[in-house]
Amino acid sequence: SPSGSHSETSQPSESRDDAEEKDVSKSDISLLQKLLHSKLVQSKSDIEVLRKDPTSPLYSVKSFEALHLKPELLKGVYDMGFNAPSKIQETALPTLLADPPTNMIAQSQSGTGKTAAFVLTMLSRVDVSKNYPQCLCLAPTYELALQIGEVTKEMSKFMSGLRIVHAVRGERVSRGDKLDCHILIGTPGTTQDWATRFGAFDLKKIKVFVLDEADVMISLQGHQDQSYRLQKGLSPNCQMLLFSATYDESVMAFAEKIIPNDPVIIKLRREEESLDNIKQYYIECSSQEEKFEALSNIYGAISIGQSMIFCATRRTASTLAEKMTKDGHAVGLLSGELPIEMRADIIKRFRDGKEKVLITTNVSARGIDVEQVTVVVNFDLPITPDNKPDCETYLHRIGRTGRFGKNGIAINFVDGQRSMTTMRYIEKHFGRTISKLDAGDLDAIE
Ligand code: ADP
Repeated sequence: SPSGSHSETSQPSESRDDAEEKDVSKSDISLLQKLLHSKLVQSKSDIEVLRKDPTSPLYSVKSFEALHLKPELLKGVYDMGFNAPSKIQETALPTLLADPPTNMIAQSQSGTGKTAAFVLTMLSRVDVSKNYPQCLCLAPTYELALQIGEVTKEMSKFMSGLRIVHAVRGERVSRGDKLDCHILIGTPGTTQDWATRFGAFDLKKIKVFVLDEADVMISLQGHQDQSYRLQKGLSPNCQMLLFSATYDESVMAFAEKIIPNDPVIIKLRREEESLDNIKQYYIECSSQEEKFEALSNIYGAISIGQSMIFCATRRTASTLAEKMTKDGHAVGLLSGELPIEMRADIIKRFRDGKEKVLITTNVSARGIDVEQVTVVVNFDLPITPDNKPDCETYLHRIGRTGRFGKNGIAINFVDGQRSMTTMRYIEKHFGRTISKLDAGDLDAIE
């Protein structure tokens, strides 16, 4: 490991602690986002249409009525509290629901309404009077498949007789059994077993095929091949759809291979985060003790709305949580060993204002946006797994998009040559000054 500088405050024992905090998997981040998104993430960006269907002009709708849904489905949509289509839905739904069916690849960040869009498509096309699977949706993990099932159940609650089955580990079929459900939602492995080994349903009869979370899918061993094999068994008339939260070459290569016949490709760019209106400071300390003290001073001296504190290790985070609790602060502690549902609860409590301070390790904070935070403290600066300054993470923690609060404060702790170098690197990278703050004189902040 690149140790050596004894002025650094991290002890060997903390490095071990750090190593325990293994990186969070893409599927965990995705599930956490699902659990946290109780409402739509609004976006000011415009939809980009990378490829459209030359035979039918792409148009968008501003209301669900304009889609001519089955009445019981429209009722279900309204009952979920949806008043109007989200940005991605405005453009995607007319194409998704048009006849003859069109294939589509769509990308937009988590929380923008993709799941609702393809669930609506499946429910629009399913014929409840036919007792065999007509829609097949693949998700990367057990938990993500169940999440989609929940949405499908909710949206279809006024459609009588609809049956949904999950093809996931733990669910069994016997050889010769024929599924009589209408919608099948599963992981690629189990779904493939059911289709080929057990012959539990006929891939040729699937009318809508959805591959969700393509970016997570390709990060998991074997899922890509199993998905291909399933797709190959589909009828050429089947409508094939792929959704992804991110969009890079590897996702695109997979998408273009699995969704044939010149699919319509649409994309909603994530809003750029910027450091405008963020005041950035650093505080120099020479020991871990001094850092704790300086932090305690900050919270004593200025009135802080909601704040997040990022630490490199679990040990630092829990020590910090203890000290701040003793100081009388209501603190939430987010750490990687907690099950995802518990992490989601802690974040929700913080969002609801039950705690004003959220302390987290660098790793367990991956993928979460907490919009109302006004102060961000980097108790330890973010570094990549190979020990380089992590500018992207820094921007994501501190930066704001146009729609969120205007002003913010970032306070970075520097404790030795290495972290000073990291701080200077980040400062240079963004071309914005990070001003020195004297821990004994905090007037400069306000
Ligand atoms: P994604 O699949 O892109 O992560 P979801 O479809 O899960 O997004 O939607 C995110 C959240 O927004 C969910 O809580 C969902 O119920 C809600 N939602 C989706 N579409 C709409 C809409 N048109 N109006 C209001 N809320 C919506």
